[in-house]
Amino acid sequence: MRKTVIAGNWKMNMTPAKTAEFIKALAPMVAGKDKCDIVLCVPAIDIPAAVEAAKGTNIKIGAENVHFKASGAYTGEISAEMLTEAGVEYVVIGHSERRQYFAETDQTVNLRTLAALNAGLKAIVCVGETLEQRELGYTETLLKFQTKMALTNVTAEQMKNVIIAYEPVWAIGTGVTATADQADEGNGYVRAAVAEMFGAEVAEATTVQYGGSMNDGNAAELLAKVNVDGGLIGGASLKTDKFTAIVDAANA
Ligand code: PEP
Repeated sequence: MRKTVIAGNWKMNMTPAKTAEFIKALAPMVAGKDKCDIVLCVPAIDIPAAVEAAKGTNIKIGAENVHFKASGAYTGEISAEMLTEAGVEYVVIGHSERRQYFAETDQTVNLRTLAALNAGLKAIVCVGETLEQRELGYTETLLKFQTKMALTNVTAEQMKNVIIAYEPVWAIGTGVTATADQADEGNGYVRAAVAEMFGAEVAEATTVQYGGSMNDGNAAELLAKVNVDGGLIGGASLKTDKFTAIVDAANA
């Protein structure tokens, strides 16, 4: 049985004070809803407040990026060891916004994934096609390529700590959701790539999330699909009631 993971990606939203307030409000709303893992991936500056507020709850804290070097002259970057020492358990890697605005490549996604896994973090690796790539008929090729590139030199044992988020770029922050069938198909391509690299057993055990305008209104239909093992949620993770409704859909 693979684990369903509902993870929020706050992007560049919330201050430390608002983080503490949000998590204190959310905690009783999601308490005991343990059919899924509940994660909030927050800006680096919010991590101490988030970890403190989440103590004793079923909410786990993630970061939104990690550098691939252990230390050194990389101004503005944060290492995996810094994250683990701060109490972070998960990290989003290769989000399309980082690929689009911060020169993230499939190679750096791979290096970050390895650094995260070697430090004991759980990596939420994002893959997804643009609208142009979809219209050209490259969705399967692209998803398999991005997945395989991201997982190069990852061991089968380390795959226990890998979550892959299929996030069609055209559905992120746009309000346009992939249909449940499109989400299932995309997640299926990702799982097939994992099977080609690590075999069917590892692929069956790997959590593959869908992300892209998932919200309280569409989560149940998306999560009902056989290949959709949770969600990576941007906008709707900034509202306690909407995020809780998605957690509820995963617990139904
Ligand atoms: C995301 O940030 O990963 C995301 C899916 O955003 P949204 O839910 O707002 O589309």
